[in-house]
This record gives sequence, structure tokens and C-alpha cells, in this order.
Amino acid sequence: MKAWILNKFGYDGINLREVDKPVAGFGEVVIRVLACGICYRDIIDIQGGFKYTVLPTVPGHEICGVVEQIGEKVENLSKGDIVISRHGAFCGKCELCLSGNDNLCITAPQKFVHSIPGGYAEYVKAPESAFEKIPPTLHKKFSPAELSTIFCAVGTAFRALVSQAQVKPGDTVLITGAGGGVGVHAVQIAKFLGAYTIAITTSTEKAERLKLLGADEVILATKQNLRFNEQVMSITGGRGVDAVIENTGSIGLEAAIRSLKIGGTLVLVGNIKVDRYPLNPGMVITRELKLKGTVGITHNELQNLFKVLEYSNIKPIVHAEFPLENMMDAHKYLTEGKTFGRIALKPT
Ligand SMILES: [Zn+2]
Ligand SMILES: [Zn+2]
Repeated sequence: MKAWILNKFGYDGINLREVDKPVAGFGEVVIRVLACGICYRDIIDIQGGFKYTVLPTVPGHEICGVVEQIGEKVENLSKGDIVISRHGAFCGKCELCLSGNDNLCITAPQKFVHSIPGGYAEYVKAPESAFEKIPPTLHKKFSPAELSTIFCAVGTAFRALVSQAQVKPGDTVLITGAGGGVGVHAVQIAKFLGAYTIAITTSTEKAERLKLLGADEVILATKQNLRFNEQVMSITGGRGVDAVIENTGSIGLEAAIRSLKIGGTLVLVGNIKVDRYPLNPGMVITRELKLKGTVGITHNELQNLFKVLEYSNIKPIVHAEFPLENMMDAHKYLTEGKTFGRIALKPT
């Protein structure tokens, strides 16, 4: 089978190769990849941003595929099931899993890309708990590329808004990096939850599309002027927003914090430059701000998201699909900031 093998960190260390097709072992399944979403994390993965990544590996953690092989003692999946990948397997027994935070399980070591090969390939093997079965209503409604975005892009936005920010109807929510993979879904979900939604983007074209997705206000930030908090304060009559879904990391963080109401919640989702930010503790203490991280979505939250996707108009947004062979072009497209929502790779 064909797979993009990362032998050395950096784009000169990755090649498309012919390798052996995986064989399902005890508790494992092999899936034939139908599509694999391209996440900003993939760029960080390839460049070695996660130091614990074991090489060689295959990038790609947003996989949609069909179960083709079942190993011994597989209990919840059958041949022919349409599945999407989680970030990795979970054990179901540790303190984190038992408290419902299976997205944070570190007991199960098999995490896509970091410890087991990911989805930039024709086939992927993993323990069955690394995959979630897609209900038939959803695989009739959405394409494999659209389904591939549900865990990491749509799901991250859902957990950030519903569980972490606990957005209620009538709240005002600010979404930075709103044209990106998590952002376009956060805008749709915030509207679904009944929030007044302010979106930040740096592109005029994306601003128009964000309005079509339901954003009540779109603020155009520029790389030179990221002080969008001034406009947010003017829109909210000086009060600030109940919650910020922050998708950029150090780039938009200062203005994001300054856009919050007293007692507001900042949910940290994205980290484009992977660098540090000098936080002023006084601003957090005196305004009683809440800072929360979020990563992926839990199994139970995902079942709720499946129902929402079934009956609502929320749509996974895939800007473009690229053949697996054209991975480099797809990454170039993403780093140039051209994408609205996700892009995906498809084996041909
Ligand atoms: Zn992702
Ligand atoms: Zn666990």
C-alpha cells in the first residue's frame, strides 16, 4: 500500500512509499482509508513539534474509513462499518476514562502519528477504541472527507463551546481564526446554541463566507493590527463577551483576553506558532477570568454531536480534496492561509 512515511522531522524527511499493508492483531482493526482531513497539527507533527513522536511514522489523525479486517476479540466493530478516528485509543479503565474524560486518556499508548502510524496512507491499523462508528444516517448525509472532520474539527469546536465554555442561549461568543478548520464549525455551533456570534478573520473573502454561516458580526483583523478587542468592546457596549474560542495561540491571545467580560471564559483551542505568551496574571485575577484548554471530544459528547449533525443544518466544511499523492501541495495550500474550513486527502 502507499503511505507517506516520516523518517526525519521536516518536509525533506517525508516520502510517499510502497509499504506492507497492515494486519489486524489482538483487539485491532484495519481500515481502508476513504479520506483523511489535514489539520494544522499535521504541520507541527511533520516539523517535530511534539518531541515524544516516535519515528518512523505516518502523519494524519483525522481518518474516515471502512473496516476491512477484524482482529481477535474485537467487540464493537464489524467488517464494513464506516468509522472515524479519535486522536488515539483509550483504555476505559483509568481515572480519566472513568470520569468521562476519555479524550485525555494516557494509559492507552496508541495515539495516531505520535506512537502509531496515521492516515496519510491507504490503510491504517489501530485498537478498535481508536475509532468511532458513524451512524448510517450520517454516512448517507456526508461524504467521507466531510466525515473525516467530525472528531478533530467539528468535535473540538463542540466540546469547546458546550462543555468548556458552557455557552447558553443569549450569550455572546467570540471566535478567533474563524475561517479555519475549528473556527467555521465553532461559528455554526455557537449559532445553533443561540449565541450572538462575533467572528475574527484576516481575509475579506472568508468574512463574507462566515456571514453566510451565521456569524452576527465579522471583524477583519490584519497581521499588523490584531487589536480587535477594541471593536469587540464597541460591539458589546463595553461589556465584553461571555466566552472566547481561541484558535490561534499567541497571535490573537492578548486581544482575546481583553475581549472577555469580567468573569468570562477563554477556551484555548489552537496554537499556530507554538510559542510562548507573556500572561499578565493581574488581568486574570482581578477580572476572575477562567482559562481552559480543550482537546478533541469525548466518546459521550461525540454521540451527542452525531445527533446534532443528524437533525441540524450544521455542516462539516471541506474546502478542497487532494489526491493522497498531492500531500505537499495540500500542505502548501494550508500554510498559505487559502483554506476555508478543512481540506482532506483521498487515496485514489
Ligand atoms: Zn486535527
Ligand atoms: Zn484511560
